[in-house]
Amino acid sequence: MTLVDNLNIIKKQIPSDVKLVAVSKYHSINKIKEIYNAGHKIFGENKVQELDEKQKSLPNDIEWHFIGHLQTNKVKYIVPYIDTIQSVDSWKLLTEIEKQAAKVKRQIKCLLEIHIAQEDSKYGFTYEKCIEFLSEKKWETLNYAHICGIMGMASNTNDEEQVKAEFKRLKLFFNKLKKNYFENDNLFSEISMGMSNDYTYAIKEGATIVRVGSAIFGNREYH
Ligand SMILES: *Cc1c(COP(=O)(O)O)cnc(C)c1O
Repeated sequence: MTLVDNLNIIKKQIPSDVKLVAVSKYHSINKIKEIYNAGHKIFGENKVQELDEKQKSLPNDIEWHFIGHLQTNKVKYIVPYIDTIQSVDSWKLLTEIEKQAAKVKRQIKCLLEIHIAQEDSKYGFTYEKCIEFLSEKKWETLNYAHICGIMGMASNTNDEEQVKAEFKRLKLFFNKLKKNYFENDNLFSEISMGMSNDYTYAIKEGATIVRVGSAIFGNREYH
C-alpha cells in the first residue's frame, strides 16, 4: 500500500462536501509531495518551525491549516500564508492574529478550539468559557481574523459510544453558536472533528472538516 492508496481509501469514505486535512506533522517533505502529486492540496501541521520549513519547500497552492497550540509570538511567521488556524483558544491569540493579518491584509479563517475530551488539557475553551467569550462580543470588532467555526478532539479511548457522544455534543454546540451569534454570517460554517481513528463517526455526527494523519502517512516518527 502506498500513501496514495491510503489517501484514496479515505477519500472514498468522505462525502465530497467534507474537507479532508491531511495531517503531515513529523512526516517528510517527500511524503507530502507524494500526496500533493496525487492531487491533494490541503495539509495540517502543529508546529510553527516545522510548518515554515515545509511551506518554503513546497508549492504555493497548498492550503495550510494550523492545528496545534500556537504561541502569540509565532503568529507573525505563518500569517502570510496560512489558510485556517483551527486551534484558537484565547482572545489574546485572536487579537494577535488580527494584528498580524492586518499587516499583510489577509483574511485568516479561525476556528475556536473546544475542549471536549475527558482527558485534561491546558488548551481549548470549555463550552462555558466559549459562550462567555462570545457573549463579550469583543470578537465582533475583528476585520481580518474571521471566526469560521469550531474544532474539537474526542477522548483517546476505544469506547466508541463515548466518542460519538462527544461529537454529537460538539455539533449541537455549533448549532447553538450559529443561532445565537452567527446567524447571518455564512462563513461561520465549519465543525472540525474526527482523526484517523474516529473520522467516520465524526462525519456521521456532522463534521465538515476531518483531520487525518496516521491513516494516510503511517505512524509518526518522533525525534
Ligand atoms: C495529530 C493530530 C491529528 C491527526 O491525528 P491522527 O490520529 O494521526 O489522524 C488531528 N488533529 C490534531 C489536532 C492533531 O494534533
